[in-house]
Amino acid sequence: MPATPAGSATRLAQLSIDTAALQHNLQRVKHFAPQSRVMAVIKANAYGHGVITAARALDEADAFALAMTAEALQLRAAGFEQRLLVLQGFQNSDELAQLAEHQIATVVHHESQLALLEKYSGTKLDVWLKLDTGMHRLGFEPALAPQMVTRLRACSGVAQIRLISHFANADVIDNNLNISQIESFIKVNNSFEFEASMANSSAVVGLPQSHFDWVRPGIMLYGSSPLVGRSAAELGLKPVMTLQAPVIAVKQLRAGDSVGYGSLWTCNHDTRVACIAAGYADGYPRHAPSGTPVQLKGQRCGLVGRISMDSLCVELGDLDVAVGDIAELWGQHISVDEVASCAGTISYELLCQAGNAANLV
Ligand SMILES: *Cc1c(COP(=O)(O)O)cnc(C)c1O
Repeated sequence: MPATPAGSATRLAQLSIDTAALQHNLQRVKHFAPQSRVMAVIKANAYGHGVITAARALDEADAFALAMTAEALQLRAAGFEQRLLVLQGFQNSDELAQLAEHQIATVVHHESQLALLEKYSGTKLDVWLKLDTGMHRLGFEPALAPQMVTRLRACSGVAQIRLISHFANADVIDNNLNISQIESFIKVNNSFEFEASMANSSAVVGLPQSHFDWVRPGIMLYGSSPLVGRSAAELGLKPVMTLQAPVIAVKQLRAGDSVGYGSLWTCNHDTRVACIAAGYADGYPRHAPSGTPVQLKGQRCGLVGRISMDSLCVELGDLDVAVGDIAELWGQHISVDEVASCAGTISYELLCQAGNAANLV
């Protein structure tokens, strides 16, 4: 696998990032949204994959989106000259000036930002006006859009104006809110000639009528399914992150023995278990229950007992496993979506946690 090895030097668990898979997944985005330009979302250190690695691999994207100003400045400092957008925008006038200086576009989602822009008269920057079409997190009421646009047009520091909104429920294609959000966005968009953007990964795949000029995929680039009930493989996406760790002990158990903290799992037959050197300090979810799959020697084994800080245990039965064999916690064989679903969370969280634990760049 053409991977960038990027595990933490102090841990036995290792993360690797398959940059060719990242590029493949970008092509899948272009397949699903052939008419739109692609703004690759690489916030939160590219969902844990390392923002520099990801930005380098995704050089065929038309722009990059970050959550915060400091993330965009980090890319500029590393020499990236692509178009950048900060999805949460600036928090104060210093940040605003830095964005303009480095020609980074900003979202404006709140009156406090508009007020700062109205006082600002430095280098012009591009602004994406954020509309709250139904998520009720960030953005202006659509009915206020004409007024906001008038104010933005009067700002000497504003270059291009564009429109942006975000879905609350696009991971469920037939959720009623999706259509109402799209209609509300189109209504505003029709009265202006602005470029527009709505679609995250799930809408890239499931809501083609929301593609507009720019799509903003995140999770699908990293090879995880954005849709409830559809696997990444079905959508032609390839896993990018692999989390692996070696077996550090193999143990014979007798019926009635229990494994790990809290003695949560007890075997009702004689069996063997392997202890693997990955735990929640490596970003593996502590809430993964017994039975969560782990790949060893070409077989799927099941977790047993609680996840520890630096280790976890799997039942081997008769499987021939020795100290030093490498287990895959997620990657090619075990999808991160499956582990996330076992642990009652989403892949986004596991990818970010594992990436943070390994300090990828
Ligand atoms: C994170 C984010 C995205 C990407 O979402 P995915 O579900 O990862 O595709 C797009 N737009 C905004 C505003 C975001 O915050």
